[in-house]
Amino acid sequence: TAFSSLSLKTELLENLKTMGYESMTQIQAQSLPPILAGDDVIGQGKTGSGKTAAFGLGLLNKLDVKRFRIQTLVMCPTRELADQVAKEIRTLARGIHNIKVLTLCGGVPMGPQVGSLEHGAHIIVGTPGRIIDHLDRNRLDLSNVNMLVLDEADRMLEMGFQDHIDAIIEQTPRERQTLLFSATFPDQIKSIADEIMYKPVMVKV
Ligand code: AMP
Repeated sequence: TAFSSLSLKTELLENLKTMGYESMTQIQAQSLPPILAGDDVIGQGKTGSGKTAAFGLGLLNKLDVKRFRIQTLVMCPTRELADQVAKEIRTLARGIHNIKVLTLCGGVPMGPQVGSLEHGAHIIVGTPGRIIDHLDRNRLDLSNVNMLVLDEADRMLEMGFQDHIDAIIEQTPRERQTLLFSATFPDQIKSIADEIMYKPVMVKV
């Protein structure tokens, strides 16, 4: 199926053409309609499935660039994945001017991140530990988040991030859209989904 069958912003559709993305991957074709409709979605798909563009297009379509507030929070298990996700979101967003994507990961100094946060951002992509550090220091305001994405949720739980994730989600509004992507679907993921999602649509590829 072609991306043009979706009700995506013109800037996103035109940029997809320049990127050479024509037809959707399976996970995109199945998850984008409910994501664009505003539903919570659980996507079971691995790296290589095109899941990043699925949630990336969903969050970019929802974002209001004129409102300079953190509207989207994406949590990833590792810095490598967070960097990759931020890079893909920036590429997908090339048609949207003045959009600010900020990565907040551990293993790098806090100072520059604090400075970047003071300048503001629309989208945060980060790892749970570092996001908690900024919340604890009152450097990060998640009260305007309307889209939350958990990427590779199973890996984040394996790494022991459950408490951090719970504490972070607590700081976001209840009236938000939540997307959860995971390669596997153990009981721990099911119970997290029950807690943080509302009537999620399940997509498995
Ligand atoms: P991911 O599963 O998100 O890590 O994506 C795997 C790779 O597929 C990335 O390099 C993407 O840039 C690429 N990709 C994702 N969706 C599409 C698409 N619809 N058409 C062509 N390439 C894509």
